[in-house]
Amino acid sequence: MAVIQESRMGDHPNEECGIVGVYAPHEDVASMAFYGLYALQHRGQEAAGIAVSDGQTVRLHKDAGLVSQVFNAQNLAPLQGHYAIGHTRYSTTGSSSNRNAQPFMIETEHGPLVIAHNGNLVNAAELRRELLHKGVGLSSSSDSEVMIMMLAGAEGEGWIERIRNCMPKWCGAYSMVILTRRCVFAVRDPWGFRPLSVGMLPSEGHVVASETGALRTLGCVAIREVNPGEVIALSNHALSVWQAVPPAARLARCVFEHVYFSRPDSFWDGLSVHQVRQRLGEQLANEAPVTADVVIPVPDSSIPAAIGYARAAGIPYNDGFIKNRYIGRTFIEPTDSLRKQGVALKFNAIEENVRDKNLVVIDDSIVRGNTSGPLLRLLRQAGARQIHLRITCPPIIHPCFMGVDMGTYEELIAHRMSVEEIRQHIGCDSLHYLSLAGMMSAIGRSEGYCDACYTGDYPLQVNFKSTKTGFEKVMSET
Ligand code: SF4
Repeated sequence: MAVIQESRMGDHPNEECGIVGVYAPHEDVASMAFYGLYALQHRGQEAAGIAVSDGQTVRLHKDAGLVSQVFNAQNLAPLQGHYAIGHTRYSTTGSSSNRNAQPFMIETEHGPLVIAHNGNLVNAAELRRELLHKGVGLSSSSDSEVMIMMLAGAEGEGWIERIRNCMPKWCGAYSMVILTRRCVFAVRDPWGFRPLSVGMLPSEGHVVASETGALRTLGCVAIREVNPGEVIALSNHALSVWQAVPPAARLARCVFEHVYFSRPDSFWDGLSVHQVRQRLGEQLANEAPVTADVVIPVPDSSIPAAIGYARAAGIPYNDGFIKNRYIGRTFIEPTDSLRKQGVALKFNAIEENVRDKNLVVIDDSIVRGNTSGPLLRLLRQAGARQIHLRITCPPIIHPCFMGVDMGTYEELIAHRMSVEEIRQHIGCDSLHYLSLAGMMSAIGRSEGYCDACYTGDYPLQVNFKSTKTGFEKVMSET
């Protein structure tokens, strides 16, 4: 069997998944799900899948790779129907093997059941043990499979009741789409960790997606969030909405969606991500001013913040890097000589814009600290004089257990090193992070967000053994 190794170049945390659900009786729902996933590709580049129901039969196609690599006209053609769900994956719980690719589909006594899940349950290991003790067989190491098996065996007259009965047992982050023969359900956890919004199509039908940017891509109007604790059914010209469980007393939207994950043209918590990022840059200019010739972003996610910093500081903005926009996730392992090129495979410095200049470089985060140094070296090699690095959030010093790929203390550079040590490690003339208060003031909210990776103040009880691979260790222990 061929062994596929991933080539990962970059130091940003990886979002775990993008999901989409479609009910559109007069449309090619498989194509709509494809383009929805295509718009969510930044949320996961490891595997993709689409399941479609025509009211009787459910058909599924999924595989490892980018959305455009997994699907073509031939394998989309058989996916005929009125209802579809799709998933693009970056693994958080469970390894990156194909058996964890989603959507998951099983046959139940109530008919076919398919789910696509974004997030991470913090009590997945306990739930998994309970299922195994009941004699339920599991074929993957994904918490999403635990959820589908619980749904299949849940008490209740219909799917709404079964979903309702499961939700209080699921502790953690889950924005989810569920496909049955004649319905797409959208489900969001009571804390509201991960985004999920629903939009109306100009023709009959609705679409639900991880980000509003994907809904706009599909031409949706009248977009609203799936609120924390809600279940919404897409099966008719009107949406059916249930508050299945009460919203948590302490809501916990992931603040990192604003800082890095979401597309800048999306709205999160009703706020334009692009505008929030500009304000993060402005706030950073106020907190950490410096005399310089030009402000440059690390593309792409830091561009709005660099615009904000430049505007507030009165320093010209310009490009310092060109990013190969099509590199994505590659499954071709670079040769040794190419590996030495490191970030140069992904970025080139624009010498004319940086030579003999003092630079302010804006980046959104430093997680493991393995790309900032090489990136800044590209600027030095291009003739930059001074480099002042500014980060649009506080240092990340605690792991995330709610579905973002930074699951251990050891991997976080800011947990191991002081800011001054990080500055020396990556080789810049000055380094400043935005303060927590500054970040929240730029967002414009004082509560309702999870900030645990900065503060260690988790909105729910977490088991520190529940790392990404810890779940698999539990699997082998049971
Ligand atoms: S710990 Fe950080 S990355 Fe994880 S959900 Fe909370 S804010 Fe988001």
